[in-house]
Amino acid sequence: EAKKKGKNTYQFFTEDLDCILKRKQQIENGLWKAIERQELQLYYQPQIEIKSGKLVGVEALLRWFPSFGNISPSEFIPIAEESGAIIGIGEWVLKKACKQLKDWEEAGITNIKLAFNVSARQFTDPYFFEKVKNVLSSLQINTCNLEIEITETMMLDIKSAMGIIEQLKKLGVRIAIDDFGAGYSSLNILKRIEIDTLKIDKSIIDDALKSNRNMSILTAIINVGTCLDNTKVIMEGIETSEQIKLLRDFNVIGQGYYYGKPEKVTEIEKKWFGKP
Ligand code: C2E
Ligand code: MG
Ligand code: MG
Ligand code: MG
Repeated sequence: EAKKKGKNTYQFFTEDLDCILKRKQQIENGLWKAIERQELQLYYQPQIEIKSGKLVGVEALLRWFPSFGNISPSEFIPIAEESGAIIGIGEWVLKKACKQLKDWEEAGITNIKLAFNVSARQFTDPYFFEKVKNVLSSLQINTCNLEIEITETMMLDIKSAMGIIEQLKKLGVRIAIDDFGAGYSSLNILKRIEIDTLKIDKSIIDDALKSNRNMSILTAIINVGTCLDNTKVIMEGIETSEQIKLLRDFNVIGQGYYYGKPEKVTEIEKKWFGKP
């Protein structure tokens, strides 16, 4: 009996695993074709100066609409990274984001920053810097409105990362550290690079109301960013008015469902630029 049950469990497990691997394979295959099939889109999420309620920027977030249904970036981005498909996809994001910034610039909207995400794999691509440089020079955009978001983990090899960051900064591109406070945050990064934007991870605000200790941590992290000259602080994942209340006395920018979810460019333009 036990043997039989064991066998069944084993079978169940392999079927499960089989299913997971098949989905992963399907996603990977789909990712390689996503660009030519025109299945990718950039959505934009507003970034609002909390004190004034003014829109100061947007973050471009990748969306993929394959024929087989809904899939979130947290599922497909890691597979794109692992397979290498992120190199092509990341280049698509770069071009699309820069083109959008150019369009807004031409429409007279020149005071809005546009941020996009890059992954570690792109950052170690020896052609990454050249790709950025080429897109910028072919579009002739105002680089001070363009921001590149990198995460702490991408700084693990700080020496090689520093080189690219310095080059990007020379082009006038802004650098944001994303998800700060989520991983092995190191203040060392802040000593080494003049970060333009410090994006504090959602978990920090989520936990703030749970204890005084967590509230102190929120305050301390915000102060680190606001004390640095020329560094802006963005609080990610703001969902409630209680959270807004906590942040009112700080000089921070908010990004989260409270202000708006990532949306199509037409929606953003309607809501924030008063376009019909
Ligand atoms: P991220 O860069 O930290 O982006 C913020 C994520 O938090 C987004 O998820 C956004 O939709 C979500 N978010 C924003 N406000 C709230 C909120 O109030 N509540 C909750 N629960 N979530 C909120 P999304 O779009 O699913 O993207 C997930 C991650 O995938 C991103 O995290 C980023 O690391 C990665 N990603 C997205 N687009 C790109 C891209 O174009 N290139 C690369 N390399 N990575 C990307
Ligand atoms: Mg981001
Ligand atoms: Mg983040
Ligand atoms: Mg500052």
